[in-house]
Formats: sequence, C-alpha cells, structure tokens
Amino acid sequence: MIEQIEDHLWRIEVPLPGNPLKSINSYVIKSPSRNLIIDTGLDRQECLDAILAGLAEVDVDLDETDFFITHMHADHSALVPKLARDGSKIYFNRPDAEVFEGVSPWETILEYAGRNGFPEDELRAALESHPGYKHGVTKIPDFTFLEDGDPLEIGDYRFRCVQTPGHTKGHTCLYEPEKKIFVSGDHILIDITPNIQCWRDGMNPLGDYLASLDKVRALDIELVLPGHRRLLRNCRERIDELKRHHDIRAEETLSVLSVGTQSAYQIASRLTWDLDCASWDLFPVAQKWFATGETIAHLRWLEERGEVCSETEANNVTFSRAH
Ligand SMILES: [Zn+2]
Repeated sequence: MIEQIEDHLWRIEVPLPGNPLKSINSYVIKSPSRNLIIDTGLDRQECLDAILAGLAEVDVDLDETDFFITHMHADHSALVPKLARDGSKIYFNRPDAEVFEGVSPWETILEYAGRNGFPEDELRAALESHPGYKHGVTKIPDFTFLEDGDPLEIGDYRFRCVQTPGHTKGHTCLYEPEKKIFVSGDHILIDITPNIQCWRDGMNPLGDYLASLDKVRALDIELVLPGHRRLLRNCRERIDELKRHHDIRAEETLSVLSVGTQSAYQIASRLTWDLDCASWDLFPVAQKWFATGETIAHLRWLEERGEVCSETEANNVTFSRAH
C-alpha cells in the first residue's frame, strides 16, 4: 500500500506479519537528483515484496536512491542491505551503529536479563521469538553518519537531524522547519506508547527519552510522520500524554515496591499490562521480555531520582524503595 502525503513524499505501509505493531511506515521522497527512503522493514520476503511494489508504483529507481534509518531496530533497518545499490548512501547514527558492531549484543542482554530475575528456561524462548533475532541485520552495511543538527537535503525538503535518545541510544528524527514536518521514527507514535527498555547497567533510557520529548516539544510541528500506524498532527498534546503515561507507570512501580524488595522480573509480573491475558503466567514469553525491559527502565529512572535503591548480591539485582 502506498499513499501520497505531500508533493514528492509518499508513505509505503510495509507489513510485519505476526507482530502486534502490524506494519511499519517507510517514507519515500523523490527528487530530480537523488531519492531518499526513510526506514525499510524486516529482512523477510513479505517486507521486500511490499516495499518493491510501492517503489514501482511511484517509479523510484533504487540506483538513484539513498537511505535514512531512524534507529537500529530490525523492523526499521534490516531490509536496507537488500535495497541499497553500490552508490547508495545509508545515513545512520553512531551510537546505534556501535550496538550493531558490538560483540554478541544478544549474549550480554541475556546475561543482564538473568541477573534481573528472568527465569533461565524462559530466556532462550524469549530470544528465539524475538523478531530482531530472527529477521535482523545479517550483514552490517557501510553507514554515512549524521549527528544532531546535521542537514539532509532531498529536492525541496531541507531536513535537519534531531537526535532523540530513549527508544534506542542514538534514535534520530528528521525535522523540516519550513514545511513543519517531523519524521518521528519510534520516538512519537499515535496509539502505541513507544517501548523504552533498559538492558544494560549505567543507563537511564527513560530519563533520556523524557528529555528527548521535551526537545521535540519545543519545535514548531504541524505534521508528524511516525514509524508505525497513522500520521498525527497534535504533536505537543501527544507528547504530554506520553509524559503523563510514564508518570503514572512510575507511581505504579513505586506502589508495587511497597510490598518489599524484589527483582525487576517480579515487579513486572505485579504491574498491570494492557494484554489479553488472565495472568502473568499466561503472557507469551516475548511479552514478558518487553515488560521486564520496560520495568527496568522505570526502575533506573526512579533510582536516578533517588526514589528507588538497587542492590546486587550473588549476581542477582533487586530493587527496593528508598527511605
Ligand atoms: Zn523501534
């Protein structure tokens, strides 16, 4: 499915089979010199077929096309190597590229999840069902790195990069100040709360995310082009809703902690989740995975604010309310 949004700008809906997100938005900008494709899809046939059909419909020549990837997640990045041609530039951010290049990031994450109370038998199952593991980037392409504030021009679109760490460490949006268009990736979505997870020590991704929301709130934006689902116009209202959501979740996390010291996995099992399951035990393991990562992000944020303390003993991390 392809729809025109503005002059020279289209949205291709790329399906994500079996994924609750349903699809990802790939944006295409045509110009007399180079074209630009923003985000792509998973490395699987359904995604490739959909994007090629869309590109054929508006007559985009991949030999004349560059790419911009908002962040490292497989649904946005993994199809790039199948689409890029020899002369294609692939614009990307450095912090996320370092994760691609890191030594076996999955092993590090598994170890960290285990320390946070994730049961051993569920860990492997969670990994096997993770879309980023199954359909992720197999060959790391050559990137052209862009930093916060860098310009990116395609025809009459004069974008500037707005780095918005949180959803990933280097997540980067594109802002067109004259047209007041904002390409938000997974930083701002309309009816889904962007997933903020923490799988590493010494990081506070939720704190980063909230600061990035404030950074975008200051921009004059009329149209947001998100990575999933519908476009949105009321950007500031949506940002305020997202901030409120995290305040409520933080409060709930603190109230779960009032029963005593627990692992992040235990805390996650006692929080309420918007899922069609009668109990935590019936949650699909992939959902337990996202829930635990999100809970750690909230705990880390509360710890930074002095409301929660963590303790590591015999390689097990537990959290309690600060007194
Ligand atoms: Zn993402």
